[in-house]
Amino acid sequence: MAKKKEMIIGITAVLFVILIGWLVYLKSYHNTAVLDDKVTANAKDRQDEQEEKQEEQGEKENSEINDEIEVEVTEAERAEKKRLAKKLQVPKKLLALYSEEGTSLSWKKVKDADGYLIFRRKKNGTLKQLAEVDTNSYIDKTVKEKTAYRYRVCAMVKAGEEIFEGEMTKGTAYFHLEIDPEKPMVALTFDDGPSIYTKEILKTLKKYDARATFFIVGERVSSYADTMKQASKQGCEIGSHSYSHANLGTAALSTINSELDKTEDKVKDILGYYTGIMRPPYGSIGTKLREQVGKPMILWSIDTLDWKTRNAKSTETKIMSNVKDGDIILMHDLYSQSRDAAIKVIPKLIKEGYQLVTVSEMAKYKGFSIKSGEAYTDMKQTKKE
Ligand code: ZN
Repeated sequence: MAKKKEMIIGITAVLFVILIGWLVYLKSYHNTAVLDDKVTANAKDRQDEQEEKQEEQGEKENSEINDEIEVEVTEAERAEKKRLAKKLQVPKKLLALYSEEGTSLSWKKVKDADGYLIFRRKKNGTLKQLAEVDTNSYIDKTVKEKTAYRYRVCAMVKAGEEIFEGEMTKGTAYFHLEIDPEKPMVALTFDDGPSIYTKEILKTLKKYDARATFFIVGERVSSYADTMKQASKQGCEIGSHSYSHANLGTAALSTINSELDKTEDKVKDILGYYTGIMRPPYGSIGTKLREQVGKPMILWSIDTLDWKTRNAKSTETKIMSNVKDGDIILMHDLYSQSRDAAIKVIPKLIKEGYQLVTVSEMAKYKGFSIKSGEAYTDMKQTKKE
């Protein structure tokens, strides 16, 4: 019995030792495996690091090479470019127009320029560089409504990355009138021009950050291209008033179309865009015109009869004693007395709290959706839905 017991203890002990041994072996194997992984990972990291370093080194070498090239170019060109920059012309005919995307800027190409720098100044603010472009146009998409911006552009030449600026444009400005839809507004409209008096009206409008709408006669615009551009630059609106001041309400279809189309072509030639609104001469509208006009027709709510009275005081009185929010005021920029009246009336209306806006602006801010082929006499009843 005792022997049998010893034997069992002995076997159990042996089995126990074997089990422990197995466990120890297993554990050490596992550790080794993990360690191997770590070693592999470390090696991989080191390899990656090395590759990265090599890449960096490569880049560094490359950039050093680039620097050397740039230095070479700069040395060769710098003095020449600097001299050239001093001779660069001021970009001419800088035009800033309101577009759906923002302010659309364009100017005449400058000889020898590598590109242009565009600057913007907010009212009473500092001049900030907006963009560097190599073409003679740019759209500033960062404008906010009801804010006035002024732009300046200069031509430049490049020597490597270095930029040498030419002389900057001076007083060229674009006013995006600050319109408060809650405050009263009126649209001054001038028909039958442009004429020698239009520029003087524009000067007064500019002085007061005000705008007006000019319903031009197509056959006159070629002689007043600069006036047209000035009006557009100031944010004034250009509308069609036919090509030869024809009575389109009674005219034949072919006359209607040629009177409208020729006017649009002329305006497009000068300003680069077509008109958005039309005023029929004599306020005469017929079915054919409604169908063919292709844009809203704008009549008036205050007729100054300036063409008839040729009296500045009478025109002024007519406006100031009748004016109300949403009025469209009819004048003609063809007579010196109308110009005199405009010069008086513009500051007076502003003093009375009216915002002087274009017809399209008034429609927009009054919530009027003006439709093609329809006629409007005022924008008094706000149609906000
Ligand atoms: Zn007319």
